[in-house]
Amino acid sequence: MDIRNCVKCGKIYNYINGIPMCPTCKSHLEDQFQVTKKYIRDNPSATIVQISEECEVPIKLIHQWIREERLIFSKDSQIGIECEICGSSIRTGRFCDVCKHDLHNNLDDALKKQTFVEELSKRREENKMWYLDRK
Ligand SMILES: [Zn+2]
Ligand SMILES: [Zn+2]
Repeated sequence: MDIRNCVKCGKIYNYINGIPMCPTCKSHLEDQFQVTKKYIRDNPSATIVQISEECEVPIKLIHQWIREERLIFSKDSQIGIECEICGSSIRTGRFCDVCKHDLHNNLDDALKKQTFVEELSKRREENKMWYLDRK
């Protein structure tokens, strides 16, 4: 048996898998997720701030659900998060299609992938600086 403290309420419980959270908190989180999902479906043009306020869910959590590809927005929605590599706006997941394609083509092992991601984010920083200079 794997006994842990819930990250949310601190209660000791029997850990199974995933995030270390007790069943009570986990089901509460799942409720919040369902509420959020329904709200997005009913209000396709809502912004993240709106969703966060209406559903009483932290923005960070909404971002996390988007990264996990659990929340997907319609094409008309203004909502997007940044690609972790180039920063362009995406609707779900971690990377935009271009970076995903690059990652897929260049790499097979995880270590190389990590280096590549770092390299690309560095390049992105440099681009940003260049852009600021020009302004
Ligand atoms: Zn808990
Ligand atoms: Zn990208």
